[in-house]
Amino acid sequence: MTDSPRSSTTRVTQVRPKTEGWSQKKDADGRPLLQFASPRRGKPPVHLADLKPEERVERLKELGLPGFRAKQLEKHYFTHYAWDAAAMTDLPASGREELVAGLLPPLLTEVRRLETDRGDTIKFLWRLHDGALVESVLMRYPGRITLCVSSQAGCGMNCPFCATGQAGLTRNMSAAEIIDQVVRANALIRAGGLGDPRGVGHEEERVTNIVFMGMGEPLANYARVMQAVRVMTDKKHGMGMSARGITVSTVGLVPAIKKLADEEIPVTFALSLHAPDDELRDELIPVNSRWKVDEALDAARAYFERTGRRVSIEYALIKDMNDHAWRADLLAEKLNARGRGWVHVNPIPLNPTPGSIWTSSEKAVQDEFVRRLNDAGIPTTLRDTRGKEIDGACGQLVATTEDEAAAAALA
Ligand code: SAH
Repeated sequence: MTDSPRSSTTRVTQVRPKTEGWSQKKDADGRPLLQFASPRRGKPPVHLADLKPEERVERLKELGLPGFRAKQLEKHYFTHYAWDAAAMTDLPASGREELVAGLLPPLLTEVRRLETDRGDTIKFLWRLHDGALVESVLMRYPGRITLCVSSQAGCGMNCPFCATGQAGLTRNMSAAEIIDQVVRANALIRAGGLGDPRGVGHEEERVTNIVFMGMGEPLANYARVMQAVRVMTDKKHGMGMSARGITVSTVGLVPAIKKLADEEIPVTFALSLHAPDDELRDELIPVNSRWKVDEALDAARAYFERTGRRVSIEYALIKDMNDHAWRADLLAEKLNARGRGWVHVNPIPLNPTPGSIWTSSEKAVQDEFVRRLNDAGIPTTLRDTRGKEIDGACGQLVATTEDEAAAAALA
């Protein structure tokens, strides 16, 4: 097939980025607006999960409370998923309320919960202290439970095919607001609220995998995301999860990828590539104006070298946009040029978003895309997409005030 735009004989249609119900935010020079800095808003209250273990002790002392109680609060919150003082009967009744108010202030208010897949997939809509809205999606799979967490309210990366991107950035989330999504999900699982535990007692179960694929660009909120990852993996003072089960997904903020590689926390790294050529990626991922395809791929390769962890390339297959056979070949060529065995590709059929004219690639085209990569020696598996029915799939999280109004109307 000679369907490369570089060949003059065959030209295939390529739908230019265009949508009906919205227009992309632009900067003063007419380029897609990128928001790296979080708009200033009232900070969420300081919480146990925002602090290092020694800072927790300090904080209690500052409040005139016994510092050694920090350890008990860690246990309640990270392993019993408790944040209600009344449940903490091992703490002396006098002063218990103060301890809990001091280190475990409420952060997420549940606004709405939607379920699908016979209860195996649940989307939560949360309200933060300042009214900002975020979502998380909990999914039971055979042998694992995955939580897709948000790291920012909204997102400043402005990718035209992603619903979150269109709303812009409201603010960064605190580490504790990120962690609270996990604790709340674990509390629900323990109470038997996630589908059918299939033989294992649900009291024993908890979230095993975290994907930073909810709202936000995790590497644009670097310090707080890293604090959250430290809490997730800390065996003594945190949740004791395996770093391998945590996936950080990014549009490709190259300096932050380098920093991440140096952290010595071997999380799984995923790069949202979506196009192997700058011409198209400039339009699909506006941050490509800063860091080009080759720079992003070099940083991904360096991540593998530094950590030994195989990296994932994410690729949403969009009909007639980025799903051409020649692009599969070009992607394989660019990945193979950087060595073997360091990467796998996870194409995912595009999920529909409001106002967008783009649709998912056809099945035969998806299969051909996957086949070409596999034939070129790049392990490639089409990703299963969950939660479409509840607008909970990749790229569909918006958490609008309409969602909140809908919830209020039902209440
Ligand atoms: N900002 C980060 C993480 C959030 S999105 C990132 O971009 O990587 C998680 C994944 O969902 C990314 O790979 C993103 O490109 C993809 N995605 C966004 N919109 C999508 C859509 N409409 N259909 C399928 N995947 C989408």
